[in-house]
Amino acid sequence: MAGWLPIGRIGDVPIRIHFSAFLGALFFSGFRFAPGAWLGFLVVILVHELGHALIVKKTRKELLGVDIHAIGGECRWAGRATPLERALIAWGGVWAQLALLVIALPLYYLVAARLGSFGIQFFYALSFQSLILAAINLLPIPPLDGAEAWKLPGLLFERYKKRRSPGFRA
Ligand SMILES: [Zn+2]
Repeated sequence: MAGWLPIGRIGDVPIRIHFSAFLGALFFSGFRFAPGAWLGFLVVILVHELGHALIVKKTRKELLGVDIHAIGGECRWAGRATPLERALIAWGGVWAQLALLVIALPLYYLVAARLGSFGIQFFYALSFQSLILAAINLLPIPPLDGAEAWKLPGLLFERYKKRRSPGFRA
């Protein structure tokens, strides 16, 4: 566990942050002194990974851990998953970021300025910069989530066709 700091648990599964995550946050802020942006980056990564974790639980796979590190994070899980389940788990991270955006965007316009530069940096990271991260993450290149996520429309269409085919019994 060298270099890891436990920050919480989901049941008996640890959520932990590696000291190198600070380098990721620094890179994210363009190497500026911007504590609001650094904290925002860590929150975005945490929310993203918790989104994966939620779908892992919903599809009844075994959640092993949630890690935050320099190049983002990782939601570790085990179990046999269908291609559809894999695609849903991949989307979980981005869906969580979109849910965060719905909360953070109004706060950016209504509250952030009152909290000074820290607040502006923080809510800017949680909304606009998070969207950019989500867009990059959805590029269809492994190990980015996009590599699995974009299989979802095709898989859903296949399922729909199968259900409509004669002889299908649900
Ligand atoms: Zn992800």
